[in-house]
Amino acid sequence: MYNPKSLKAEEFINHEEILDTLAYAESNKDNYELIHSIIEKAKERKGLSHRDASVLLACDNEEIIQEMYDLAEQFKKDFYGNRIVMFAPLYLSNYCVNGCVYCPYHMKNKHIPRKKLTQEEIKREVIALQDMGHKRLAIEAGEDPVNNPIEYILECINTIYSIQHKNGAIRRVNVNIAATTVENYRKLKDAGIGTYILFQETYHKESYEKLHPTGPKHNYAYHTEAMDRAMDGGIDDVGLGVLFGLELYKYEFAGLLMHAEHLEAVHGVGPHTISVPRIKRADDIDPSTFDNGISDEIFAKLCALIRISVPYTGMIISTRESKSVREKVIRLGVSQISGASRTSVGGYAEAEPEDESSAQFDVSDNRTLDEVVHWLMDMKYIPSFCTACYREGRTGDRFMALCKSKQIQNCCHPNALLTLKEYLMDYASPDTKKLGEELIERELENIPNPKAREVCIENLKKIEEGQRDFRF
Ligand code: SF4
Ligand code: SF4
Repeated sequence: MYNPKSLKAEEFINHEEILDTLAYAESNKDNYELIHSIIEKAKERKGLSHRDASVLLACDNEEIIQEMYDLAEQFKKDFYGNRIVMFAPLYLSNYCVNGCVYCPYHMKNKHIPRKKLTQEEIKREVIALQDMGHKRLAIEAGEDPVNNPIEYILECINTIYSIQHKNGAIRRVNVNIAATTVENYRKLKDAGIGTYILFQETYHKESYEKLHPTGPKHNYAYHTEAMDRAMDGGIDDVGLGVLFGLELYKYEFAGLLMHAEHLEAVHGVGPHTISVPRIKRADDIDPSTFDNGISDEIFAKLCALIRISVPYTGMIISTRESKSVREKVIRLGVSQISGASRTSVGGYAEAEPEDESSAQFDVSDNRTLDEVVHWLMDMKYIPSFCTACYREGRTGDRFMALCKSKQIQNCCHPNALLTLKEYLMDYASPDTKKLGEELIERELENIPNPKAREVCIENLKKIEEGQRDFRF
């Protein structure tokens, strides 16, 4: 039985409910009266249910799709302005006891080099990341209780936060590690993590079990219920995601929204972020062996509909996607992107030799961070290195309340300008710096509250004089 409040995976992500939803969506995909009423409902900015959103996804009328895109763009502007938050992944270890068939770190892969960063290597990696200008990391590790126990992860987090190098600092560490216990989530919370990210990969239980034939990740319920345990452990910012290409995208989309509805129903706060990775080529993985790959058009439609359906949830896109795809979906609702990523264990301080690659997937966007920052500003976006909310204790429902009151505009916007200013002073190339200074000048006008604008101008001056780390 479908029950969003249940704590059992198969009840809050209920297979029958998803099938009914898909049938309902299919039978109504040309029901324009219903579709228009759903779009009107979406305009209230309170989000859409998985049923309503699935009807929009099923609709293939070009004009209506354009309406959805326009609405997504409007939401993006209203809730996130023209800011794009920057981050980088840091792979700590690719030892893994699982058998995920789409990931080259699966246990049976005997030829991929297995690596695990020592604390000394982490220092070197973090300094290299700081020297690019990054302030926000997402750490990643395979599941291996012997090689990557929770103590190792905690030690790494501690090391990362402790490194001060020139004006560099990593101010927020998000964590993407395997589903674990409430006790371990509590330890992560105490270590000061930002968001706990765990991709569901697929919500389809039968496929899930086939795609994860061996190892602890095989347990669908344990994996699917992880976010509830994370929240019970005190982590109130959690990040969802599916790996598009493994199962039918319409199924995954409904599952993803049901998961968000479940978190809201049980914990009073939805997911902090949603990631939208698509399956990519890597070591012994050929994406064409998976039947459910999606086109760039469908991908854009999914991004737009996620934006409309969960307006307050950040959306993340990685360097799995090319520059042109990123360009399109940033407009439709993506709020956070990675830049200059290495998807290997190590690789920032020193590039890996090609024949010794430990990469999890091939990167489609290989530009430097300076190039990405420049590109964003050329398109009139503000690259933001802001980490303020979590450091001010604005997480979970406090963050959502602020977001819904629209006061976030008086925080995010000046914070974006202040952190961009730091980037320009410390790391940017002359061209990027010039472009950025002009952008800051223009964008100061767009801070709604005059007092906030005044404080922002004062702090920008202080940054020029050498001070750092101002935030609203
Ligand atoms: S997806 Fe994660 S759990 Fe699965 S093999 Fe790769 S690293 Fe291991
Ligand atoms: S103020 Fe908060 S929500 Fe806004 S960009 Fe910074 S951390 Fe994100």
